[in-house]
Amino acid sequence: MDVQTIRKDFPILQELVHGKPLVYLDNGATTQKPLTVIETEARYYEEYNSNVHRGVHHLSQEATNAYEKAREIVAGFINAAHSHEIIFTKGTTDGINLVANTMSRRFLKEGDSVIISAMEHHSNIVPWQMACEESGATLKVIPFNEKGELKMEEYTALLDDTVKMVAVTYVSNTMGTINPVEDIIAQAHARNIPVLLDAAQAIQHMSIDVQALQADFLVFSGHKIYGPTGIGVLYGTSEWLNKLPPYQGGGDMIKTVTFAKTTYNELPYKFEAGTPHIAGAIGLGAAIRYLQQIGLDKIQQWEEQLLAYALEQLRQIEGIRFIGDAAHRSGAISFLVHDIHPFDLGELLDQQGIAVRTGHHCCEPLMDEFKIPGTVRASLTFYNTREDIDKLVTGIKRAVSMLR
Ligand code: PLP
Repeated sequence: MDVQTIRKDFPILQELVHGKPLVYLDNGATTQKPLTVIETEARYYEEYNSNVHRGVHHLSQEATNAYEKAREIVAGFINAAHSHEIIFTKGTTDGINLVANTMSRRFLKEGDSVIISAMEHHSNIVPWQMACEESGATLKVIPFNEKGELKMEEYTALLDDTVKMVAVTYVSNTMGTINPVEDIIAQAHARNIPVLLDAAQAIQHMSIDVQALQADFLVFSGHKIYGPTGIGVLYGTSEWLNKLPPYQGGGDMIKTVTFAKTTYNELPYKFEAGTPHIAGAIGLGAAIRYLQQIGLDKIQQWEEQLLAYALEQLRQIEGIRFIGDAAHRSGAISFLVHDIHPFDLGELLDQQGIAVRTGHHCCEPLMDEFKIPGTVRASLTFYNTREDIDKLVTGIKRAVSMLR
């Protein structure tokens, strides 16, 4: 992969921060946008800005076509059986809330339970807690070992007749652990339990085939896959999406409305109330097209090399402690150095133009498990280089020498 050429597609990567060339290692929080995404979104506003599914006029039809084309691109990208199984949402959080809310209204009751894992982002904890509070169901949690790998024997033990839903992350945003989702799904399906995969940190790093995985639901955010913010995807099988009640009421999600009774639209519109983020969806389509042109296999190969290089180089730093050390991992590396507070390290790295994330990464229960307040997290993607890693390592050493 010609990373230097690829970097030219991302205008922000040429920026200086505090007078230093930007080293962007906060891709887990959000990814940068290639020019094609920026231009595609701008073109919508400049040339055919209009509402979708409403007007017979030319611009509205053009906007509708582009919006629906984006849905097809997403469907093809994750190999959904039908494009109506793709629901545009605001992002991962919105998608999980949609499923948790509608699931609890129709399928959860007192005595039931929902399984999540101890490494979930708050987005895949709190909506299920709310669903359990509303319905009287119980939340059960799969623990992980000291390497940050799920204890699968404990998962098996948790699966009983009370379980009505399993919702787990595909890849940990903090530790980078790739979870054995095929096994998780197979065990749940053996008991007819549906599974939701939070693919927020997986979708940009590996090819995903929802039919091969047999996922019932899969969610991700546009902004973490080089697309715009405010747009995301909920994939659900037709079977499940048809069984769930609508999430929000409003325009577009209805077939007919009278004061006596409203009937609901078919999929996917049943779950897309109100004017959607049209530019965002079209921009997300452009981001996926861009990735497909490079090839996700190539991206994955390069990212694996880069991750191995980063781990090897970081290991040389005296006093470094990795949080999570799974055999299968992708994207994120979390660490602490000596007893230095992550914020202090993050700030000194920022002064050197190096963007990392510090804190609990919206995973407070994970931090509690390790008995730490937070970590420094470097999260890599395909436009990162070995030079970025070298600068990170030098930057950490410099910061440590100033702080100790
Ligand atoms: N799930 C995981 C694993 C994440 O990493 C994130 C964001 O960092 C989210 C969910 C929430 O994504 P969003 O804020 O885009 O809804």
